[in-house]
Amino acid sequence: MKVITAHLNIKIIVISAVLLIMFAACIPTLVNYKLKQKTDVSETPANIKTETTFEETTEKTMKDKNGNEYIPSSNITVYLTFDDGPSKNTNEILNILDTYGIGATFFVINGKYNSYMKDIVNRGSAIALHSYSHKYPEIYSSPQAFIDDICKIHDLVLEETGVDTKIIRFPGGSSNTISSKYCKNIMKDLVEETEKMGYIYFDWNCENGDADGKETSVEYQVKRATKYNKNDENIVILMHDIDICGVNTKALKEIIEFYQGEGANFSVITENSPQIHHKVNN
Ligand SMILES: [Zn+2]
Repeated sequence: MKVITAHLNIKIIVISAVLLIMFAACIPTLVNYKLKQKTDVSETPANIKTETTFEETTEKTMKDKNGNEYIPSSNITVYLTFDDGPSKNTNEILNILDTYGIGATFFVINGKYNSYMKDIVNRGSAIALHSYSHKYPEIYSSPQAFIDDICKIHDLVLEETGVDTKIIRFPGGSSNTISSKYCKNIMKDLVEETEKMGYIYFDWNCENGDADGKETSVEYQVKRATKYNKNDENIVILMHDIDICGVNTKALKEIIEFYQGEGANFSVITENSPQIHHKVNN
């Protein structure tokens, strides 16, 4: 009996040892499997799609006024930007952009055409934040007042379009001095505060001058918007999407065609776009 028990014990020990060795041998495989799983997470279809989209963007063909496709031949990228919309002209601006197969960036405010915000997004342009009230005495009365206002327009854009954008443009630009009438040094504070909150601000380095007077002519807008620094590879053009005295649609076509003639690429502003910043003066 004792012999049988001892024999059984030896058998159990041997089997246990074999199982232990087998398990130990499996550990590297299990670890590899885990690692593989981790690697696979970073290769989800969504991420791959982003890469593909990026490639498509960089190799995107443009359309000239006759609908003929062309590939940009220079290193210039033009960012058409429209402030203060949406307006009754938003649709017409989007139609022109469609004609040329390009998008623009709309820095929006709260107004009576908020329902057009989703058209901006659905038709391939980018939506970004400008201001809810756009009233300088209010938004520039204190840093907190500005933050409250930008949060309100952020939430409105999110509600209207589903887009959670962090891209902003200060009314008057970061270089504005009008804000000093309401709060000294507020722009210095706002540049820091908004950055801490994760917002990214964009100024401009070219403009069509449509805000310069009552109603500016086509010639004037084209002349202003096509005057750019030849050393700049990124040209951010400020224009306005407002009911009256904003961008002239004929001028917009001429401006687009001018830059097409320069071999430029056109792009919307994203969080990764080069940030054109003015000198802060207040
Ligand atoms: Zn504005």
